[in-house]
Amino acid sequence: MDDVWDVVIVGGGPAGSAAALRARQLRPDARVLLLDKAAFPRDKACGDGIAAHARVELATLGLPDLIADYRPTSRLSVVSPGGARVLATVARPNHVVPRKVFDARLVEAVRAAGVEVRHHRVRSVDARDGYVLVDGAIPARAVIAADGANSAVRRLAGIPASPDGHTAIAVRGYADVPADDDVQLIAMQREGWPAYAWSFPVGDGTANVGFGMLLPGLRATGLPGRAVLHGRLAELLPHLPARDLRAHHLPLSTGRPTPGAGRVLLAGDAGSFINPLTGEGIYYALLTGRLAAEAVMQYGEQGGHAQGPLRAYRRKLRKALGRHLLTTDVLAFASRSPGFIDAAIATAARRGDVFDLLVDVGLGAGTVPLPLAAAVVRRWLLDGVRRR
Ligand SMILES: Cc1cc2nc3c(=O)[nH]c(=O)nc-3n(C[C@H](O)[C@H](O)[C@H](O)COP(=O)(O)OP(=O)(O)OC[C@H]3O[C@@H](n4cnc5c(N)ncnc54)[C@H](O)[C@@H]3O)c2cc1C
Repeated sequence: MDDVWDVVIVGGGPAGSAAALRARQLRPDARVLLLDKAAFPRDKACGDGIAAHARVELATLGLPDLIADYRPTSRLSVVSPGGARVLATVARPNHVVPRKVFDARLVEAVRAAGVEVRHHRVRSVDARDGYVLVDGAIPARAVIAADGANSAVRRLAGIPASPDGHTAIAVRGYADVPADDDVQLIAMQREGWPAYAWSFPVGDGTANVGFGMLLPGLRATGLPGRAVLHGRLAELLPHLPARDLRAHHLPLSTGRPTPGAGRVLLAGDAGSFINPLTGEGIYYALLTGRLAAEAVMQYGEQGGHAQGPLRAYRRKLRKALGRHLLTTDVLAFASRSPGFIDAAIATAARRGDVFDLLVDVGLGAGTVPLPLAAAVVRRWLLDGVRRR
């Protein structure tokens, strides 16, 4: 049996690594254990798109230069389901870094911060009086579940996963592109909407390409998932034949569960923190991992509270993401109508401030001011009248 750990973190992706780094930042002598079933470097199905907002989180965690050797990408092209187009320069550049590289660097930084990293698959989590027992032999004052979309810890804690209607599924691969291709492309598709393909050039002559849609939309085709996802990707990006195809589901924040139970807190995909408009999850993972660690460490400092660190975590989530998640909940609902997205993209093509705002909502923690929402709705309604 181990001595009691201050915090045990399950999963070494962005959420788990951020939690581990923050815990040691706040208390350099904290006993922090990170468990991952995979040995790093490991691959992860992802678009590899790292938003500017995520880089701010990396800087907060003491890693401002973690991906500085990758090319920044400022140009973003979006094609709406009805064919409205916008090509514009984002206010702050994004990066594209293969997850095999990004996550391995994060875990390396976690080790360097003095966290013990073990190659270990978690199979049981039991709440005991004043602590949590992981796999019968690892006692912890608190557990941060950062074990991804299929979170075993969430299941073991009795918290349900996002329902199917709030789950997307996406496939990603890699394709050859000219080394100077620096436009991030998002091409939406009306068929099976909401659905879109992307091409995110890395800067080394390859691009991460993929296609994603909602799970019920995929099921409605009645066809094998693989055939639909691979087929639509090839159809939407015929000039970019992809290799190393790999699919995974994305639990969207619209169906987020309660963020924990007792001394177990859910961060990143385990807590369904994925933007329902874009599929962005790395920024949320870094942010929620950090907040979970802050809740755990501050809870310890205050000598404990009857309701455990969960109360502090909820408060932090509400402060950092409350209004934003409400915004994306509403926009995700409105955008079930492709005409709404057509109107939003058409507005963004004319107005730089709207473009910047959409990027902020889709990739960060932005919110939409009421007058702007009204302008988009007005255009959506006018387009609807014109079509009649
Ligand atoms: C196809 C696709 C494209 C995407 N594109 C983007 C994009 O371009 N940009 C973006 O920001 N987001 C994107 N996302 C979302 C993004 O990948 C996730 O939101 C992000 O990886 C969440 O990080 P995480 O740390 O929560 O989980 P993960 O990165 O999934 O890490 C979870 C870790 O937990 C470990 N683990 C799992 N179970 C156990 C266990 N029982 N015991 C121990 N360890 C365990 C795993 O090995 C893994 O290392 C995409 C997702 C998909 C599927």
